[in-house]
Amino acid sequence: MTLKEHRYTIPRRIVQFISFVFINYVILEFIFLLNLKSFEPFVKVLPILAAPENPLSKGAGFAEFLFYFIAEGEFPFLLLGILILIVLFSNRFFCGWICPIGTIQDGLAAFPTQKKKVGIETHKTLLSLKYLIVILLLLIIVPLGFTKITDKDFHNDYKNALGDIARNPVGYFSLSEYLFVFFPKMVEEMWEQEKIDPLFTEFTVFVMFAFYLIVLIVAVYYPRAYCRYLCPFGAITAAISDYSFLKLSRSPVRCVGRAECGICERVCPKQIRILDEPFEFFTGNGECNLCLKCLESCPYNAVELRFG
Ligand code: SF4
Ligand code: SF4
Repeated sequence: MTLKEHRYTIPRRIVQFISFVFINYVILEFIFLLNLKSFEPFVKVLPILAAPENPLSKGAGFAEFLFYFIAEGEFPFLLLGILILIVLFSNRFFCGWICPIGTIQDGLAAFPTQKKKVGIETHKTLLSLKYLIVILLLLIIVPLGFTKITDKDFHNDYKNALGDIARNPVGYFSLSEYLFVFFPKMVEEMWEQEKIDPLFTEFTVFVMFAFYLIVLIVAVYYPRAYCRYLCPFGAITAAISDYSFLKLSRSPVRCVGRAECGICERVCPKQIRILDEPFEFFTGNGECNLCLKCLESCPYNAVELRFG
């Protein structure tokens, strides 16, 4: 591989590293002994800065915030507006270049193992999983938020019945919530008790540990597996991505096609069938996270980044 073939990967890795350190409250606090209390008003409206865990926030990231507000009966116009604008102008750049969970998965995928592809039909079915999670969560928490305004008694009973899901709707479905909020707390407990018992206190605690461990192992062989199939934030941004002004396109003149080449599809970590997509623009049904691997790897310079 030449430097030209890494011309986007190298700056992306640098941006990912810087982002990983600087948007993580836990890491900032741990490494630089910072106290970010003075940033509280800013952090509250820009939850990117609150990811992963921030004691100033109610969750680990953007999706966590959105769902939390809906459960509280407040429609998050501002947050949703910010998110739509971000995706309209930068597509899923955040996912490819900034998200700490994406960075962790890219790190895992860097292990020198043979990367695998999921069968096309299975891949398509699995892609729907993240949308199902979001729809299911909305079906549960929209009534919770609505009854907070209309029927307090029912709301309280429903909230008690939902337990943790009411307090943090995305909690069980978010890898960032697990890795940066839940897991460190559990390790802290283990450290204090000097035994591994906290892992086995509740069935759900162990199941979540085993589940996310499997997700991380799978990401070694299937790059960005969590982003593709499970991430609730990925589902929300993928739904907006097709309307973004920033997109990739493929030149019908320069591209020589799958039989002659097909390199772009082979290097795509999201397993997007680029060559089945329209020439004018492709997002792989919103799955593309603008890692630009296809662009830098194309030997015929057929892939371009376009705005407008
Ligand atoms: S790598 Fe470039 S030339 Fe090859 S199939 Fe993809 S877009 Fe076409
Ligand atoms: S289509 Fe290209 S930019 Fe998008 S995820 Fe695949 S390799 Fe990355």
